[in-house]
Amino acid sequence: MKFLPSVLIALLANRGSRQNLTLLGQFCLSLVAVIILYAFLFQFLMHLEEQNHSLMSAFYWVMTTMTTLGFGDITFKSDLGRFFSMIVMLTGVFMLLVMLPFTFIELLYAPWMKAQSNARAPHQVDNTVKNHVIIIHFGPVAESLIDHLNAAQLPYVVVLSDLNNALELHDRGIAVMLGEIDLPDTYRKAGVERAALVATLSSELVNTNVVFTVREVAESVPVFATARSDTAEDVLHQAGNTQVLRLGRMLGLAMARRTHGGDNLAHVIGSFGDLLVAEAAVHGTPLVGKTLRDARIREHLGIAVACVWTRGHMQAAGPDTLIEEQSMIVLVATRTQLDAWDEAFCIYSANPDPVLIIGSGRVGRAAMENLTARRIPYRVIDKLPERAINPEFMIAGDATDRTVLERAGIEKAPTVLITTHDDDTNIFLTILCRRLRKDIQIISRVTRDRNVSTMDRAGADCVLSYATMGANAIYNHLRHTNVLMLTEGLNLVRVRIPPQLAGKTLIESNVRAITGCLVVAIDTEAGTEALPSPDKPLPEIGELLLVGDEDAESRFLAQYRTEGEKE
Ligand code: AMP
Repeated sequence: MKFLPSVLIALLANRGSRQNLTLLGQFCLSLVAVIILYAFLFQFLMHLEEQNHSLMSAFYWVMTTMTTLGFGDITFKSDLGRFFSMIVMLTGVFMLLVMLPFTFIELLYAPWMKAQSNARAPHQVDNTVKNHVIIIHFGPVAESLIDHLNAAQLPYVVVLSDLNNALELHDRGIAVMLGEIDLPDTYRKAGVERAALVATLSSELVNTNVVFTVREVAESVPVFATARSDTAEDVLHQAGNTQVLRLGRMLGLAMARRTHGGDNLAHVIGSFGDLLVAEAAVHGTPLVGKTLRDARIREHLGIAVACVWTRGHMQAAGPDTLIEEQSMIVLVATRTQLDAWDEAFCIYSANPDPVLIIGSGRVGRAAMENLTARRIPYRVIDKLPERAINPEFMIAGDATDRTVLERAGIEKAPTVLITTHDDDTNIFLTILCRRLRKDIQIISRVTRDRNVSTMDRAGADCVLSYATMGANAIYNHLRHTNVLMLTEGLNLVRVRIPPQLAGKTLIESNVRAITGCLVVAIDTEAGTEALPSPDKPLPEIGELLLVGDEDAESRFLAQYRTEGEKE
């Protein structure tokens, strides 16, 4: 009842609704005209039969006949009168029982219900909301981003133009706002000038329109837009202060970076101050089966092992951490130290056979680009032969058919990258590849975060999610963090040293026990230190490199908000 006036206002403000009301009024008037006409005809025909009835009785007879009640207390005796009765009855059935309910529902009830729903969906963001994220288009990336934002208690709003969509999300507890995404006024109502950023995650054509519409209202708000092509990227950059996310490409490159391609070399995945962060496979090396204490990596090469992860499970580097055949170890070291690592381990089990890439779409092609640059041989399987970039490396066929996989060389390949956009296909392919080869490195893509655990159980060594990749890129900007995914759910995060930790040692502050994050390096003006000693006080200014899963990372950010973020 509270929003009855707003429903009425919405109903009357709408030109279509006003037209509907006019039509309904016209229908009612014609009904009244028919009743009056029939009443006079009734009197005339009764007069011919020498019966006399008052005007009130005439209306009474017409109404009881039209509504098919027909009490039978007033009846015609002549055929003409009875024929007239039938006409009145049929008109009544048509107008009152068919036309009236239909007209009422179509012209009044349905618009009324719509106006009521419309009034229920928010049309604007509260003026008190600031530093919020405005999200255009609700899909897997938005869903993942909203999870991050909720965990960090940061405000957001999803702008949608479809009422049903908006109400469905509103009922799921997601902050939505109804508005046309190509109208500047929508962004004013969304408080774009007070917003931390706008993320437009629709198709590149829609995104271009959104970016330029936003720029009409707010010149400086950062905008993140997803795009597929170089051309769209160029066009979007023209809008100024716009970050273009080529998620397919980013994902393909990240998958390829995780590819050990049969070697045990250190693959750099990021840098931190003067140090490089690298991953290395250990299969076939004398390190397998040893603990870190026995492996003596720091003593021999000066390299700090940050953590060891096996199929998505992270173990913090401790003297008793066991190195298994499928383990990947994360190294924090200088270029020279990594070269020493490569020299020491290049002799073990280098597998010269080509890596398999399933799917030659955007993700697969970006992976090929990275492997080509690293001179790692590969073969591509795709259902569509026309997708081949280089037919020499292409095996046309459906990878769910094991003979196609065999033709592509699955028996010997060191790694398989599963890149199609369909999660069901990717889960099936992961299970199939794992059944065919226990020791192959499987790197799989998921589009929806909810399929990550299924993919882990299917036997993937590393899972990278399209949705998380996009969400991380946006979230990194927002929280001034720098998150690098090791595998889905396990991240390397770079953060400023929180004021609460300055001057305290890692033992005193107990960061690991409180948040679950492992501090693997510190970067200060004096330089970068890998695996800092736990009894040395942290400086006031500098950055920390943390390893942890997403919960640990959220706990860290919630526990130690930096001053910059509090503003
Ligand atoms: P994208 O559209 O960017 O996700 O690219 C997916 C690519 O994977 C397309 O070229 C598809 O033809 C290919 N693809 C999808 N399913 C299979 C499959 N079962 N076997 C081989 N290629 C596939």
